[in-house]
Amino acid sequence: MDTITEASRETPIIHHTDVLVVGSGPGGLAAAIASSRAGAETTLLERYGCFGGNLTQVGVEGFAWYRHDKTVDSEGIGAEFEHRAKSMGASNPEPQSNSHAIDGEAFKYVADVLVEEAGITPMLHRTMVAPIVEGGVIKGVIVESKAGREAILAKRVIDATGDADIAHRAGAVTHKTPIEEMMAASVMFSMNGVDKKRFIDNVKADPHTYSDWCGPDWSMETSGKEDKLFSPYLKKPFEKAIKSGLIPENLNTITGTWGAISDQGDLSYLNLIHLARLDATNPDHLTKGEMEGRRQAMLAIEALKQFNPGCENAKLRNFGMTLGVRDTRKIDAVYNMTARDVREQGKFDDSIGIFPEFIDGYGILILPTTGRYFQVPYRSMLPKGIRHLLVTGRSVGGDRDSHAAVRNMMCCAVNGQGAGVAAAVSIQTNVDVADVNIDKVQKKLIEQGARIH
Ligand SMILES: Cc1cc2nc3c(=O)[nH]c(=O)nc-3n(C[C@H](O)[C@H](O)[C@H](O)COP(=O)(O)OP(=O)(O)OC[C@H]3O[C@@H](n4cnc5c(N)ncnc54)[C@H](O)[C@@H]3O)c2cc1C
Repeated sequence: MDTITEASRETPIIHHTDVLVVGSGPGGLAAAIASSRAGAETTLLERYGCFGGNLTQVGVEGFAWYRHDKTVDSEGIGAEFEHRAKSMGASNPEPQSNSHAIDGEAFKYVADVLVEEAGITPMLHRTMVAPIVEGGVIKGVIVESKAGREAILAKRVIDATGDADIAHRAGAVTHKTPIEEMMAASVMFSMNGVDKKRFIDNVKADPHTYSDWCGPDWSMETSGKEDKLFSPYLKKPFEKAIKSGLIPENLNTITGTWGAISDQGDLSYLNLIHLARLDATNPDHLTKGEMEGRRQAMLAIEALKQFNPGCENAKLRNFGMTLGVRDTRKIDAVYNMTARDVREQGKFDDSIGIFPEFIDGYGILILPTTGRYFQVPYRSMLPKGIRHLLVTGRSVGGDRDSHAAVRNMMCCAVNGQGAGVAAAVSIQTNVDVADVNIDKVQKKLIEQGARIH
């Protein structure tokens, strides 16, 4: 490939902070709140115009759709997201669980309030483009924005980009699932003008279960107990649309779940478009996926209008601000989680939180209907070789099955809170994040309302 040589330049240092969290999804938002509450001066950097990551930018609203009567759930900042959304009118009852779906639009404001209350320095509209690393120690990041290129220096950095962008660019080892096995990306969308009564009457007349997630060309592993449980699944309108010629046969992948319906007729978190073989660390793939996804979403809307009772007069309300990405880089961590850890109630001395036995991805669906749960190890957030850096959210270290569990938003908030507290404690005790006293971290997490055992 041809290259050019860029001129060297002086870059202004615009900000110093104790803890810099880059990326504000469930992982990063929880990390920043936890770090600030633990007494560290904290800055939260985000490339888009709102905090929340997939929750607000993509419209992934099913924060705890796994929760059943016997579920032993995570506590702490993740649970707070759900309670706060509910108390601020930013949620709707979730149809398949004992939970509320978080309203992705309204949560943009809830997140602002949480950031301000915690005393975090907010920085929106700045993209991290390069880590600053000296002698194996991360010192901060370079950002790009409408103001040009700037530097931010920090005592500790938390990579919550979802893609391990900082760890990867700093030279830490990361890996990706082979593209043919990657979880699909999705253009998410919501509709309005839905007749709620007609829509719900139709769901009740013809209820679906999780076994409907299987089709002639794909199957799903469950533990058996999931198969007969109700699922807000939409399949028939698209089968009819294919029969009528509205949707071409090769798009029999248009199918999936609806998330919530409001009294005002908003049908949101429509998870119906699945784009396989898309590597979201490649902007050409992203470009193609955004455009193809919107094309398919418009076909899905037309099919719902024609073939799903209650949707006759509905229309597109919004697409997610960006393509929904499930699966990119994971770090090679000091400890990489395993299938056994998430399937067999893994326990760890360095646990920073618990997460119910909920595994969803790579063709597996196991719901936490029995009270089983696993502990999340701190070491899965420690990349090898770069000091003062933690990686949190969905790119922590682990194998495929473990990622199908830890990628879920509540678990990202669990490990985010652990990363935030550990970063603060490591500054206060003047040690690297890899050497932090885990007893002190656990004590502080418990004070913050997390459940670690
Ligand atoms: C379509 C879809 C449906 C899903 N359904 C569910 C579900 O029902 N329930 C569930 O629990 N999970 C679900 N997930 C998974 C879940 O949304 C993600 O795994 C989770 O949001 C990951 O959280 P995170 O904090 O690691 O990253 P993200 O939520 O991806 O947030 C990363 C943040 O970092 C920012 N960022 C990235 N790079 C930079 C940069 N260079 N500079 C500055 N900022 C940057 C991004 O803008 C973003 O705000 C779904 C995912 C998708 C895509």
